Amino acid sequence: MDISYKYHRTTVREPVSFIGVGLHTGQLTTVCLKPSVDKKGIFFVRTDVPAGQGVIDARWYNVSNTTLSTNLSNEFGVSIATVEHLMSALIACGIDNLRIEVDGPEIPVMDGSAEVFVEIIRNAGKSYLKAAKQGIWIEKPIVVNDGDKFAMLMPHSVPRVSMCIDFPNTVIGSQCYTVTLNDESYFEEIAYARTFGFAEQVDAMKEKGLALGGSLINAVLVDGKKILNPEGLRVENEFVRHKILDVIGDMSLAGAPIIGHYYAYKAGHNLNQRLLKKLFSEASAWTKTSLEEGKERFANHDDLYDGDFIQKTLNVVPIKNIAS
Ligand code: ZN
Repeated sequence: MDISYKYHRTTVREPVSFIGVGLHTGQLTTVCLKPSVDKKGIFFVRTDVPAGQGVIDARWYNVSNTTLSTNLSNEFGVSIATVEHLMSALIACGIDNLRIEVDGPEIPVMDGSAEVFVEIIRNAGKSYLKAAKQGIWIEKPIVVNDGDKFAMLMPHSVPRVSMCIDFPNTVIGSQCYTVTLNDESYFEEIAYARTFGFAEQVDAMKEKGLALGGSLINAVLVDGKKILNPEGLRVENEFVRHKILDVIGDMSLAGAPIIGHYYAYKAGHNLNQRLLKKLFSEASAWTKTSLEEGKERFANHDDLYDGDFIQKTLNVVPIKNIAS
C-alpha cells in the first residue's frame, strides 16, 4: 500500500475511462475516474439518474447489501453494486480523493481481480494535494462473530491482513494467508487474485438475478475437486488471496486507510461491514490522525497482540502461522 509518499492526500492526475460488464447485473457500464480536489474522499456519481440524486460516498454507512458483493446506496435509494475490487485497487494505489462517474448500476468486474484497475489507476497518474493524509489507527481490539466465523481488528504499526478460509471437499480446502501492506506487497501478492464461484450454485444464483455477467473469463469456477477454467489458477492459493483483496476493498469504506491488523476466519462482506460499524460505534477504539503522527505513536505496539493475546482475551483460537 502506498502510504510512504510524504504523507499528502492524493487524487488521479488525469481522468481515465473504462468499460466492462457487471458480474451480477450483466450490464455493460462505462466508468470514469476523475480528479477530485475539494470534496474529501472517494465518491461515486451515477450519471444515469436525475441530477442531484446520483452521489454516493464510498463509506461504510452507505453499505446497503453484502450478498456476494458490497453495494452502496444513498438517501435517494440510488445504488452502486460490486465496489470492492475497484476500491481495493484505489486504496492500495494510495488514492484518497476521487470522483467515480458510472452510467449504470454496477462497477464492471473486468478479469475478476484488481489487476486491470491497478493498471488503469497507474495510467491516470497521481497528483498530490496540500492536505495531510490521515490514517485510522486501531487503539484496541474489536471483534465480530457469526457462528464459527469471525473478523477482528487489532492495533499494529502498519496495515496487515490475515485470513483463513475453509471449503471442505473442494479444491480450495483450507487456506491461510497474511500480508503486510507496503509499497509492493499488494501488487506482488494480492492484486491479480480472481473472484471465485461454485458450479453447483450457478443456476440458483442466476435465478436470483445474481452472477448474470459471470463467466470463465472473470471468475474461477470450482466444481468440487476440479477447477473448470482451462487456464487453471494464477497462483496456488488464489482463493484466500482474493478474499484478502475483498477485505482491503471493504475496509477502505472506513474513509481512510486502516492502520492495524485485520485478522479473520471465513469472513466475508457482511462481517466486514459489521466490523466497521462496531469500530465506529466505539470512539475509544480508534484514532484518526496524520500518518506522520500515527507512525511515531504506534511504533511499539506490535508485540502486545500476538497469538496468546488473541486466545486469552478474545476467546478465539488463533489462526496457525499468522498469529502475529
Ligand atoms: Zn471479490
